[in-house]
Amino acid sequence: MSKDAQPLSPPRDKKFRLKAYDPAYTGTLKESEARERITKLRLRINELQDLLYADQRYGLLIVLQGMDASGKDGTANSVFRDVGPVGTLVTSFGVPTEEEHNHDYLWRIHNAMPERGKTVIFNRSHYESLLVERVRGFASPERWKARYEEINQFERMLSRENTVILKFFLYISKDEQRIQIQQRVDDPKKQWKFRMGDLDDRKLWDEYMLAYEEIVDRCNTGYAPWFVVPANRRWYRDVVVAEAIIARLEKLSLRYPPAEAGVSGLKIV
Ligand code: ADP
Repeated sequence: MSKDAQPLSPPRDKKFRLKAYDPAYTGTLKESEARERITKLRLRINELQDLLYADQRYGLLIVLQGMDASGKDGTANSVFRDVGPVGTLVTSFGVPTEEEHNHDYLWRIHNAMPERGKTVIFNRSHYESLLVERVRGFASPERWKARYEEINQFERMLSRENTVILKFFLYISKDEQRIQIQQRVDDPKKQWKFRMGDLDDRKLWDEYMLAYEEIVDRCNTGYAPWFVVPANRRWYRDVVVAEAIIARLEKLSLRYPPAEAGVSGLKIV
């Protein structure tokens, strides 16, 4: 499959079809090159996060979505490995608590948004309201169908308020998920990550893929783009995500604030 057949950020003027995408795609990149490149990309992300923090105008929201074992935690750990804890946070969204359940579906999401200068990485997100809630029937069709538009409006407001939003769908194949889940089950240090319920979601694979397709089709906006990341190969996934983040941050013309009068040339005694 050629690179153009699956642009990382699908064109918005065409209907998005997931079947045009290959989760094992790695383009012309070789694993050895990717490993070298990611080392440099991590350093660049660290520099840019430092600048984002100093600049204080924008917050950065990274949304990571994908099926179980698609590597949401792994991506966050790898791409942000060189970024210190100041200014960056991972927030995971699981089954809503009773308090969360007693509010609208964006309540817990809005509350977790990055303040200006900071980066927040979402492991799962408001899109679960169009994934698990749709596929498992927790939300009525009337409700979930209205959410594409509601989420677009919400993200538009956030972006106007200087939250930069990048959304990554980590796309693995069903067979790759089988391999990854099997490894979890076989490794005593990973067994805790596995819940029997994960297999119920696996059985609903096709329904989830349809839900993802519709999300990317309807919520891939100029102000909050979706990236469809072939994620069977971790080394490819990490490079692609890191490069997309760097490209976006570099467009912001971030700058260090000017020093106070008299600071330049000051000799400390
Ligand atoms: P992960 O699988 O992401 O490592 P968990 O094992 O805590 O972490 O799983 C999170 C679970 O929470 C997933 O099964 C997901 O479907 C569920 N979840 C997330 N958001 C919602 C929601 N809005 N309604 C119901 N379930 C949700």
